[in-house]
Amino acid sequence: MKGALLSTLTSATLVEGKDDKWVWMANEEGHYSVKSAFQLLQGLTIAEPILEFETLWKCFAPSNTLAFGWKTLWGRIQTRTNLNRRGILHNGDSLTCAFCLGEEETLEHLLLHFSFSSQVWQKCYRWLNILTVLPATCGMHFLQHGGEFMTANKRQGAKSMWLAIVWTLWLSRNKVIFQNGPRDVEKVFDSAQLRAWNWLRVKNNNFSFTPYEWISNTRLCLGSL
Ligand SMILES: [Zn+2]
Repeated sequence: MKGALLSTLTSATLVEGKDDKWVWMANEEGHYSVKSAFQLLQGLTIAEPILEFETLWKCFAPSNTLAFGWKTLWGRIQTRTNLNRRGILHNGDSLTCAFCLGEEETLEHLLLHFSFSSQVWQKCYRWLNILTVLPATCGMHFLQHGGEFMTANKRQGAKSMWLAIVWTLWLSRNKVIFQNGPRDVEKVFDSAQLRAWNWLRVKNNNFSFTPYEWISNTRLCLGSL
């Protein structure tokens, strides 16, 4: 932590004619808050997740999806709860999740915890042969996903699958809302698998497997990255 602060200070550049200023780096806005100071003291520094979140940009995926993933990590995608917080929804607009029509559409509800999403994740875990439980937030989920793989490239491959799932869940949510689309766990998972396969194929020259090989022997395929 001290080393990180020192390297931040020594790498800061002063620009002539421009005032320098202090920025509190333990939260995104750069402003001090008691909560962020408490998290810092607890060892739950924001700087560490920021560094880890940066690995998202190395995922094998198109740039628009990477941007979506980045917003997801920071809780900024346009769920109904977020739209309401920003004052974009009108009085009477529903905050309810369009999938289950039961609970409020928060980021974590939509992409992690409600039965539809959690079934998609369970399918992913069974496919990758991973025993785990879903963490509380999308950020923690991203950090955890693929952690059991020993090489950075394999982890990036697994994280690309994470991105393919959250992206496919989001597209599927939009179809449910705007086109009365189906609520089909199998379809979402199959589509995420193929989407990830296509990204890996396009973004990595060493990846030359068929969809069948990808689906039936994923670990071998990830080993080629
Ligand atoms: Zn729901």
